[in-house]
Amino acid sequence: MAWQGNGMGAAWAWHAMCESAFTGHNTLGRCLYLIGLIDSLLCRRCRVEEESSAHVSCECEAVVSLRHVHLGSYFSDPEDVGSLSLVTIWNFSKGTGLT
Ligand SMILES: [Zn+2]
Repeated sequence: MAWQGNGMGAAWAWHAMCESAFTGHNTLGRCLYLIGLIDSLLCRRCRVEEESSAHVSCECEAVVSLRHVHLGSYFSDPEDVGSLSLVTIWNFSKGTGLT
């Protein structure tokens, strides 16, 4: 049975998929920056906005086609992403190459 979100939003869903059970960190830019693995908070795909779960899953223009294929829209609202199955979000996040 696929898990369905309950309105907690894109940030929770993304973090649930990307977070390491061992470190408590995820692989998005902010965490990588805070632990010194990258030298910029900018999104590694578009280099325009800070790389956050909301940015990548809802508004990053560099992954707009990928978002359409996996999430069903070119741009999303965090509430919409939060209602998707974790498998759908996982496939999208893997496709971005940021996880
Ligand atoms: Zn971006």
